Amino acid sequence: MLTLQVSEHSAHQSRPLEGRSAIVTGSTSGIGLGIATAFAKAGGNVMLNGFGNRDVVEELREGLARNYSVAVAYSPADMSNPESIAAMVAAGSEAFGTVDILVNNAGVFHIGPTDAMAPENWDLSLKINLSAAFHAIRAVLPGMKARNWGRIINIASAVGLAGAPNMAAYAAAKHGIVGMTRSVALEVAPTEITANAICPGTVRTPLIEREARAIAAAQGISVDEALAGFLAQTMPNGRFVETSELGALAVFLASPAARSITGAALPVDGGWTAR
Ligand code: NAD
Repeated sequence: MLTLQVSEHSAHQSRPLEGRSAIVTGSTSGIGLGIATAFAKAGGNVMLNGFGNRDVVEELREGLARNYSVAVAYSPADMSNPESIAAMVAAGSEAFGTVDILVNNAGVFHIGPTDAMAPENWDLSLKINLSAAFHAIRAVLPGMKARNWGRIINIASAVGLAGAPNMAAYAAAKHGIVGMTRSVALEVAPTEITANAICPGTVRTPLIEREARAIAAAQGISVDEALAGFLAQTMPNGRFVETSELGALAVFLASPAARSITGAALPVDGGWTAR
């Protein structure tokens, strides 16, 4: 009897999200894929979302489902379109029965001097990095309230807590998502729904690699030198944040142990915002 109890306990520990279902936006790549993988490993069902070659996305979807014995779905919803976002949440409820966890992660990175920023890039940055999260939260909250359980995790940035040159649009959206997180958290504080923001430092994802290639080309330096420049400017601990570290934090925030953590903006930034 004791043995059975112990093994049930350790099974729960290793798959703390068993029976939960999540939508992770922008999870065909980078941080979102790291979080989706960590959720699947923790026993949660996951709806993937994001752009990408359909065959490659299907391989990802099928691989996660097979490796971790969970249900994995995919929505191609464009996060700049509120109707597609509502359709994605409806598809998540349809696929899994409930959407217990929402991770707003899809993002774009338009940078450059403020007076050189195209107004359409400002608009797109706010649409995808900020408004998309509002539309998704708005769509999942009624179900979470009805079940009195939910986890909202918004991927902000160290630039959601501090300014950075050439990042006015990005910083505005990321500071905005931190403010929205705090407000939503207070709104639902009497319930078992939490809302938190994760604020990563520099993570070596396709987003950062694209930027490094552009800087390398513009400055006549190598991509490695451009990446080293990012690290030197941003990360006091001298290394990139791994997507698995962000996945582990997201799993913890989604677990029962984190029920009293709400309205937090958690830096995972090697000390960037401690300066
Ligand atoms: P990435 O480019 O590797 O991934 C972005 C994901 O978002 C992809 O799946 C892409 O298809 C999806 N996406 C982009 N536009 C979309 C749209 N209109 N509709 C649906 N999906 C869309 O980038 P990443 O580095 O993994 O960034 C993920 C999040 O983390 C972003 O919100 C970003 O701002 C944030 N972030 C990144 C870093 C970093 O250093 N990489 C640091 C802090 C915060």
